[in-house]
Amino acid sequence: MAMNRRSFLHSLGAAGAATTLLPLVQGRGLEAAVAPLRGGIAPSEIRLDSNENPYGPAPEVLRALAGWYEEAGRYPDFVIQNLRTALAASLGVPEDHLILGCGSGELLKVSVEAFMAADRHAVTASPTFETVQSRATALKLPVRAPLVDKALRIDLDAMVAAAPGAGLVFFCNPNNPTGTLHPTDAIEDATMRVLRSAPDAMVLIDEAYFEYVDDPGYRSLIPLALAEPRVLVLRTFSKIYGMAGLRLGHVVAHPDAIARMRPHLAPNNVNVLAAAAAMASLPLTTHVRTEVARNAAVRERTTRFFSGLGYAVVPSATNFVMVDVRRPVAAFRDACRAGGVLVGRPFAPLDTHARISLGTADEMARAEPVFRQVLAG
Ligand code: PMP
Repeated sequence: MAMNRRSFLHSLGAAGAATTLLPLVQGRGLEAAVAPLRGGIAPSEIRLDSNENPYGPAPEVLRALAGWYEEAGRYPDFVIQNLRTALAASLGVPEDHLILGCGSGELLKVSVEAFMAADRHAVTASPTFETVQSRATALKLPVRAPLVDKALRIDLDAMVAAAPGAGLVFFCNPNNPTGTLHPTDAIEDATMRVLRSAPDAMVLIDEAYFEYVDDPGYRSLIPLALAEPRVLVLRTFSKIYGMAGLRLGHVVAHPDAIARMRPHLAPNNVNVLAAAAAMASLPLTTHVRTEVARNAAVRERTTRFFSGLGYAVVPSATNFVMVDVRRPVAAFRDACRAGGVLVGRPFAPLDTHARISLGTADEMARAEPVFRQVLAG
């Protein structure tokens, strides 16, 4: 049932909140009460900074969500369990090999807490998706981060060489922020070498951008996670399913690995609306194909645009591209923002490579004159 004004006011409950919000709600409607959430980013700004899906969840998913608003008043324990059952069936994995997170980010953080120690370092690329490094650093745990190679691909040999003694080795494939891809066989080979040389290491393979990859040498390593008790594969609903704001991710791993992670999860870590949206997303195979094709077309357009201006674009297997703008990224980003376009922050040590997430074709058409002007400046 859609929430009406009366049930909304009722749900405010606490007298203080009601006193604060009531005049706002009565005077300007519910939209005005919620509007402050949008502060910070103007509706006209083009958001190419966070590798989100510019279309958000599929229309079918939004319709399914509407039927779940009332459930927001209930704790989600049964919902989480039922989603786990459905997702395991959809992935073709046993249910006890699956753990759900509040976004895959929670599971990255939990992996650091579960598998690292003062004498068991992490191995992660430089640069790669940062949660492993940032959580380890916050806990004062040691990290080794070999630089990506000249083509900005993860240096697999250097990572394997850094693995002895490790607690956690993180391979992000395709890699964020570079967008680069290794053939799955190469990741599998590196993983097996780590398993041999680092007997205490867990290997975490991040497949956040899995659905976008269109390469004959690429496949999921979920089968390896089912076969090897020290291999974990991470996925998210934030990208292809457009659920970055709802928060749902998952890991496929051996039950022993999951048992080590579970104590570090937040209680009831998946909310009912995220679960409902994920459940509604599972059957949408046609939608996924449409999204992949749309993304590929915009990626090609954006690559042609920057190459046409004489700027090298790193070949990308994802929903973003890295462009060598041959100037400090922070200044490029600030100038783009002044023109109403948000792009990625600097990713040390790549100080001239800007990461640009792919928006809709219309958003890219509006962003291109801003990029052209900033680059000409
Ligand atoms: N892994 C990678 C490679 C990512 O790029 C991201 C988000 N940008 C995440 C994990 C975390 O995503 P989420 O927490 O939204 O699932």
